[in-house]
Amino acid sequence: MRLIILEDASVVADWAAQFVLQRITQFAPGPGRHFVLGLPTGGTPLGMYRKLVQFHKEGRLSFKYVTTFNMDEYVGLPREHPESYHYYMWNEFFKHVDIDPNNAHVLDGNAPDLAAECRRFEDLIQQAGGVHLFIGGIGPDGHIAFNEPGSSLVSRTRVKTLAYDTLDANKRFFGNDMSKVPRQALTVGVGTVMDAKEVMILITGVHKALALAKAVEEGVNHMWTVSAFQQHPQALFICDEDATLELRVKTVKYFKALSEEHQKMIADRPVDEQRLVH
Ligand code: PGA
Repeated sequence: MRLIILEDASVVADWAAQFVLQRITQFAPGPGRHFVLGLPTGGTPLGMYRKLVQFHKEGRLSFKYVTTFNMDEYVGLPREHPESYHYYMWNEFFKHVDIDPNNAHVLDGNAPDLAAECRRFEDLIQQAGGVHLFIGGIGPDGHIAFNEPGSSLVSRTRVKTLAYDTLDANKRFFGNDMSKVPRQALTVGVGTVMDAKEVMILITGVHKALALAKAVEEGVNHMWTVSAFQQHPQALFICDEDATLELRVKTVKYFKALSEEHQKMIADRPVDEQRLVH
């Protein structure tokens, strides 16, 4: 696991978008060869989506041969509700790029058989050949997707009842009325995300600092589900300075030094290779 500490949330957004651009470009998708991307919603990735849309408009990035799988969706919220994740994804991202809507998969929280919908989603990921890069955010309680504290670290896509903290954190999207926040969601499991070849988790803001410290400095713990990614072979935690406030100085120093070493290594490469390495 690598922790990359950047100045603020806008630098995190730019860095994450650049990383996606590089990974897709490197892969060189084409007919019958799709790059498979796992995607989050929430406030944290918005800046990254804006930047990806910009890259697309500048002609630097196409999503024509990209297949996406979203992490989660509320149960029982109409698809056209402004807080549904279908609505979010369509308005913040999909409608601005050239992705084929048939390749943009978001769980259906209104499916008549929710368990079958979850199995279908896992099957679709399998059929796509697995996820190349899963991008995630975390909650202040260290949840990844809607894998609330206490979730199994080998869980698969399923129905999940949301924790009180999550209802409280999300009530801001529902007129600050907690009774309006859906109580359940469909979510990929920790195991589903762990199966991705590479995982990039974005963490910004002081309210995420404790979760980041638990995830980086303490052991793998199902009460802080993001900590499971310590055991992923290719996991990147991208955070801003504010999110490091609960980390020990020596942890911050170590990862900053590692990033500097990495930058030097990249700078030593021929210029045409530099853009392909992070
Ligand atoms: P946020 O949500 O990006 O809006 O903070 C992240 C999450 O709860 O997973």
